[in-house]
Amino acid sequence: MLPFNLNVDFQQLSGVIVTVVAILAAILTTLWISMIIWAYRDMRSRSRDTFAQAMVALLVAVLSVPGLLVYLILRPQETLAEQYERALEEEALLQEIENKQVCAGCGHPTKDDWRLCPYCHTKLKKNCPSCGKLLDLPWTICPYCETPQVEQSQQSRRSAAAMGYSSTYQSDSAEDDEI
Ligand SMILES: [Zn+2]
Ligand SMILES: [Zn+2]
Repeated sequence: MLPFNLNVDFQQLSGVIVTVVAILAAILTTLWISMIIWAYRDMRSRSRDTFAQAMVALLVAVLSVPGLLVYLILRPQETLAEQYERALEEEALLQEIENKQVCAGCGHPTKDDWRLCPYCHTKLKKNCPSCGKLLDLPWTICPYCETPQVEQSQQSRRSAAAMGYSSTYQSDSAEDDEI
């Protein structure tokens, strides 16, 4: 009876060991594959270089956890989406700086809807005689109602000249617009 019992116990034990080892192997393999996929996807979100993406997957596949650690240390800091967002922000900031208006006479900041600089009384904008919208002084035609801006007071001519626009150019183009 005794040898038979021992034999059964040994068989049961080896069966348990095999099962445990198989489960462990399955878990480790799943983890290993997941690490490779994660590293590949992560690299793909940070670089368009397909060679670099393949190298990262290979690195993690061969070196496993240490490979993943090396990748985490060396990977590009920004994802492509973050790079794009930063570029957009920089562009918006530049645009803001470019659009900031200042008085041609005194350099004070002015607002879009000001007709006159309150600091030095330089004329900044003119009203369209037809639709009444505010126009930049050098404009020779109203962009809202297409009325050519022929008449200009002496003052606005002077301000336009001060802003660096020649008054002859204005009258020339005004004539062109009328033809
Ligand atoms: Zn001014
Ligand atoms: Zn108009």
